[in-house]
Amino acid sequence: MEQTTVAVIGAGFAGLAAARALRAHGIDVRVLEAADRVGGRAQTERSAAGTPVDLGGQWVGHQHARMTTLAREFGMTLFPTPEVGKAVVVDGGRRLRIGPLTAAAAGAALLRLELLARKGASSRWDEVTVADWLARVLRGRARRLVEAVLPEATACDLDRISVGALAVGIRSAGGLRVMLGTAGGAQESLLSGGAGGLAEKLAAELGSAVHLGRPATAITRSADGVTIATPAGPVRAARAIVAVPPPVAAEIRHHPPLPSERMYVQDNLRMGTIYKAIAVYDRPFWRERGLNGEIIALDGPVPASFDISPPGGPGHLCVLIPGGAAEALDRLTGAERRDTVLAAVAGQLGDAALNPLSWHEKSWHLDPYVGGGYTAIPRPGALDALADAARPTVPIHWAGTETASKWSGYLEGAVLSGERAADEVRAALRSTCLGVHSKS
Ligand SMILES: Cc1cc2nc3c(=O)[nH]c(=O)nc-3n(C[C@H](O)[C@H](O)[C@H](O)COP(=O)(O)OP(=O)(O)OC[C@H]3O[C@@H](n4cnc5c(N)ncnc54)[C@H](O)[C@@H]3O)c2cc1C
Repeated sequence: MEQTTVAVIGAGFAGLAAARALRAHGIDVRVLEAADRVGGRAQTERSAAGTPVDLGGQWVGHQHARMTTLAREFGMTLFPTPEVGKAVVVDGGRRLRIGPLTAAAAGAALLRLELLARKGASSRWDEVTVADWLARVLRGRARRLVEAVLPEATACDLDRISVGALAVGIRSAGGLRVMLGTAGGAQESLLSGGAGGLAEKLAAELGSAVHLGRPATAITRSADGVTIATPAGPVRAARAIVAVPPPVAAEIRHHPPLPSERMYVQDNLRMGTIYKAIAVYDRPFWRERGLNGEIIALDGPVPASFDISPPGGPGHLCVLIPGGAAEALDRLTGAERRDTVLAAVAGQLGDAALNPLSWHEKSWHLDPYVGGGYTAIPRPGALDALADAARPTVPIHWAGTETASKWSGYLEGAVLSGERAADEVRAALRSTCLGVHSKS
């Protein structure tokens, strides 16, 4: 049987960061990845212009210290998210000017959310969905504006997330302004080689320790470790780090069965629903009209678009379509989806949008190995599922962005969670002296 000291399940940023941290201390690791690629919710393709295009996670925030350091260590640069020109808000296909009263009402509701996040929402807020709450506190266009913005930030329809869960997300990101912001916020920068490109570099450093196409199907826990079943044979390890989104980890069988607290976590978190597309053009033509590529639409198939063009390079325009709107696109053919999205964008940015050099898309909720994005969200009434997501089921340790106390749902949270799980494992191995060759 294959033996290692620590088996890491999942080669997203969390699993790769965990494996790297353990390796740095001379601990033997093996990473088992179900898909035929690394990166999980980070995946980079090449455009027709030869530029990297991120189908998944892309932005690195101002405060994302670990992602920034990793990018530099692997020779990647960060460039600022372009912000040249004006954003447009659209309703019924027509551009809107948001008046001061609408802006003030929407701002007041967002401020209430921010305050709840700061002081910690009480459990009663976990019983109220954001949709119900907004229906009570806002009306008219101000409500529709907030209803357009918040699903972009959560990848979730607002009747599927509680005010309490949203407040926890806001708190984990250091506030709404940071969460929604570009310069100084979570969308400040983009990676020169793409987030998926960085994951590939992390995996390349780990070399033959990373095994692709190797799903963990079952884990048997015993007094001296774990045995992980995979289609290519079992792997024996002293400890396992499961760095798989909790709803997807629920597919792995356990012997003995997992304790009820852990089942509660897996049963009560659901992945967000998100479709992302990137259209690549020879130049960011929208800037010639004084626009910054950002569209916020209060109705229609495309709620938002963003300019993510590299400096001096071709034009990259990305759309993020969450929740039910994403599921509606799933019912179309690929060609119909592209036409639908590009027609909506062209209505605001101009007909040049209709003819990209290349087109890249992914419905993340249809990816069997990650199940959606940006992250897993607790069912209304089950917020404590998130709080318990990181608690180990010895000898299993849980990683993944959902288990991070800071930046949960982001690439940064994934890295932090992997490094935290690696620390837990090192401490456990030190105390049991199991097969460790520690350099520290
Ligand atoms: C469209 C989209 C846009 C996003 N935008 C941003 C952004 O701009 N900035 C940002 O910071 N974050 C963003 N995110 C979120 C970010 O991508 C995630 O938080 C992060 O990538 C999660 O990493 P992870 O390692 O925790 O999990 P994952 O990346 O999901 O990794 C889990 C891995 O486990 C593997 N796996 C699953 N089951 C098994 C099994 N049984 N055995 C072995 N392997 C298994 C999967 O294949 C996968 O590789 C975005 C996400 C999406 C989907």
